[in-house]
Amino acid sequence: MILQEEDHLELGIIVRILDLNIKQDIGLVGLGNMLTFNHFLTEQATGCPIATVDIHVNLKNRQHAIDEYGYGPANPNDDVADNSMFWNKKADMWKCSVENVKTMRCGNCAAFNVSDRIKNCMASGINTEKADNGEAVIEQANLGYCELFHFKCAGDRTCDAWLTGGAIENKDE
Ligand code: SF4
Repeated sequence: MILQEEDHLELGIIVRILDLNIKQDIGLVGLGNMLTFNHFLTEQATGCPIATVDIHVNLKNRQHAIDEYGYGPANPNDDVADNSMFWNKKADMWKCSVENVKTMRCGNCAAFNVSDRIKNCMASGINTEKADNGEAVIEQANLGYCELFHFKCAGDRTCDAWLTGGAIENKDE
């Protein structure tokens, strides 16, 4: 039997729904992170989460994390004076000192994936954007992939959903 375009579309949607159900069962899909059919095809072709290879999806998901879960600060360098408001707010939320809350960063969050597989995905995505050396960009920005909100996050930033026990290194290899 030869499948028509509509059949492919229908089949893809069914597969995606099954895939989403499985991911929801194990807690990998957050609000606002539904994929289009094209994204689904890209993920299947690359073997990478779509946000690691599509900058538009990455920025959309990052904005979701900023708006809904206080991802930041914008410039995480500790010598930026403006950041005191950000860290004071986080310390109030956790009811602890600023010094303590500053130890809770993406870099040691259990959702921060820095496995070799994810790093390769991020490097190939960055290189697609005409960068010469995706690996160097990842290194400089201390990038990992947030498994909760599905975007490339910086190890020095944090968000309200920080989880103890990270990061994920090569547990998925
Ligand atoms: S869930 Fe963890 S890795 Fe993701 S943005 Fe928040 S602190 Fe960073």
